Amino acid sequence: MLNLVLFGPPGAGKGTQSNLLIDKYNLVHLSTGDILRGEIAAGTSLGLKAKLIMERGDLVSDEIVIGMISSKLDNNPNAKGFIFDGFPRTTAQAEALDALLEGKETYISAMLSLKVEDAELIKRLLARGQDSGRADDKNESIIANRINEYNNKTAPLKDFYAAQKKLSEIEGTGTVENIAQKLITVIDNL
Ligand code: AMP
Repeated sequence: MLNLVLFGPPGAGKGTQSNLLIDKYNLVHLSTGDILRGEIAAGTSLGLKAKLIMERGDLVSDEIVIGMISSKLDNNPNAKGFIFDGFPRTTAQAEALDALLEGKETYISAMLSLKVEDAELIKRLLARGQDSGRADDKNESIIANRINEYNNKTAPLKDFYAAQKKLSEIEGTGTVENIAQKLITVIDNL
């Protein structure tokens, strides 16, 4: 199996690149942000719980997102592999993911970490907020909080995967195709 963690701060291009990679490698895309937005749209109790937290730009609890990923893994028993996008975001999530995959006799192949400067992230997110209407992309102080959450709780996961010799850092600026090509080169060399 090819199991990739597509990593980086909000606005780094994880969703865009995931969409290109799932087609090329025939993988299942698991974006916890997309799943949570789906729960909110469907008006589920999980969605209700997550909504206010997401609107503030805070992280949803580990328990909720780990449970979501666990059931998605169970629901895709024949997948050739997965792209994890926006998950894991904390050490507890990364440890839980390793344990879940081990239970299925597989493991993370690599973490591909997209690097983009803060000023560029803010510019991209505000532009996305105009197009998508995502409430958490419209407001600069919420965006600042999300970048802060990333720096404090999520960025340390680079060390977690580096310790397993699985970290590749990729420059996340340039054209979409150019960045995709860099990711493909890393994946094809795994
Ligand atoms: P994203 O679409 O990945 O930018 O996620 C949007 C929001 O969903 C985040 O700001 C968090 O509030 C929440 N979220 C998504 N994935 C996670 C996760 N793995 N852990 C905690 N919160 C998450």
